[in-house]
Amino acid sequence: MLSMPALCWLCRLPLRIAQHGLCSLCLRQLPALPRLCPRCGLPAGNLRLPCGRCLLKPPPWQALICVNSYRPPFSRWVNQLKFSRVTALRVMLARLLLLSWQDSYRRGNLPRPDLLLSVPLHPRRCWQRGYNQTDLLAAPLAHWLGCERGMGLHRQRQGALQHQLNARQRRRNLRGAFRLEMAVHGRHIALLDDVVTTGSTVEEISRLLLAQGAASVQIWCLCRTL
Ligand SMILES: [Zn+2]
Ligand SMILES: [Zn+2]
Repeated sequence: MLSMPALCWLCRLPLRIAQHGLCSLCLRQLPALPRLCPRCGLPAGNLRLPCGRCLLKPPPWQALICVNSYRPPFSRWVNQLKFSRVTALRVMLARLLLLSWQDSYRRGNLPRPDLLLSVPLHPRRCWQRGYNQTDLLAAPLAHWLGCERGMGLHRQRQGALQHQLNARQRRRNLRGAFRLEMAVHGRHIALLDDVVTTGSTVEEISRLLLAQGAASVQIWCLCRTL
């Protein structure tokens, strides 16, 4: 039986390394990442130093890594992974995230994570969708990095839909929404989400992890809404 060659997600030409998902030409031609603050992930003048906003009011996490801003083709891939069950995208997207993390890691000041957690969905939402899209990314990343994948973070309350709320309401809506059932003391944690918008969800979870003694928390996301 002939096996079908894996195709590049953009140009649809056969790939030499199926796992890569994108050919080297398309990878090089992806839109460049704007210059972002290493701490909050918002546009900034310097890649190495926290921006003025972070000097005044730093987020609880130590670093934010993203593949790109929320724009095509990244936004399309995120939506396909999330809503159209195109779960075959997971390895390619996880690899883009790994490449972004390696870039930041090489610039320094970023510990190598030893524990990977994904932002949990409420069990009801997870059951409706059949999977947690962020979990799909966590599996290959934990494998490549040789780090543990934590399963002890749970969402115990769905609350109102976040996008209908303003920043203050979002924070209130999330208070007590997550529960941690694992030891994180002294661990360097990478917390995975698909899209970070206001950051209120990852902020709430970071506070929970740091209050339980985590050594550091870095946020890894596919897209940062700028
Ligand atoms: Zn291609
Ligand atoms: Zn910043």
